[in-house]
Amino acid sequence: MAQNKPAARGEVTVLEPGGPNAIAVANGIVGDEWTLWIVQLALNSGLTQYNDWLGAGPISSTVLTARLSRLVESDIMQRVRVDTRPPRHHYRLTPRGRQMWPILLTMWAWEQKWVNDPDEHLPEMRHARCNAIFSPLLSCESCNEIAEARDVRGRFGPSGGWDRSIPTAVTRRRKHSGPRPPELITQTMAMIGNRWSTALLGAAFLGATRFGEFEQRMGAPPTIVAERLRTFCDIGVLTQTPNPQRPDWVTYHLTEKGRAFFPVLATVIEWAHRWFQAPEGPALRLTHTPCRRAFHPRLLCSECGDRLRGSSVQVVRNPADQASVS
Ligand SMILES: [Zn+2]
Ligand SMILES: [Zn+2]
Repeated sequence: MAQNKPAARGEVTVLEPGGPNAIAVANGIVGDEWTLWIVQLALNSGLTQYNDWLGAGPISSTVLTARLSRLVESDIMQRVRVDTRPPRHHYRLTPRGRQMWPILLTMWAWEQKWVNDPDEHLPEMRHARCNAIFSPLLSCESCNEIAEARDVRGRFGPSGGWDRSIPTAVTRRRKHSGPRPPELITQTMAMIGNRWSTALLGAAFLGATRFGEFEQRMGAPPTIVAERLRTFCDIGVLTQTPNPQRPDWVTYHLTEKGRAFFPVLATVIEWAHRWFQAPEGPALRLTHTPCRRAFHPRLLCSECGDRLRGSSVQVVRNPADQASVS
């Protein structure tokens, strides 16, 4: 984030003109699984101290130190000195950090519904207002109706464009380079944990279907495009359709599982635009086609229909996991 002016705490970050836009910067943050793990434990379990995270999972002190300092730089956490004896430092979520809950909630809901990984042990979520186990539903803030990916049209705004929207500084995750966070969102990371995957996903949601379209929009070498398309087909997010006229031409379309990932993208885009502003204007403009107004996501409880708030979402861990996490 060296390219950005440092934000005063709790204020919007103004991005450099012509540089990476809000989507690129936000994706650089949420595309890192340890970052999400740290924020999730701060949100859901109230962790504040360095040793809390060190004891909560297989994170190394090098990784933890690096991630915490990046979170402070990005104004997602603040480091606060507490005058105990000896003095300690606590890490607390800023308003920007606390507002990441819809992103984590939609990731969790997608994994829970579409990924059957017996090792994930995802906890359940309870809505404090109605006391029921729920899943979040995406709705349009303008008209209050439930919104699906096919009802939302996206166009690049003044700071948009492919080259400005692809993160430049995502933490590179090497294969088998060490332990991974527990109870996390493995396929979510296959979707957004890497700049080319995110670009491919964005291209698919913005209507690319042919190999050449993906290649052109992503600006990636053909071998990478081919490899990512294969991965997305393997995990069932895209499906290949042969063309009867041209047997060598296939088109790629989002499956139901792929379209169901839209709430994650919508909440990331909303958070990105809220906290990172390019002087030219937004990176992407979303329109809810049924009401023709600007689309802003709002999450509702599947059980009572009320609007969800961060404070009303409770994590319900099963007792066996609780022993190892808290
Ligand atoms: Zn609407
Ligand atoms: Zn409810």
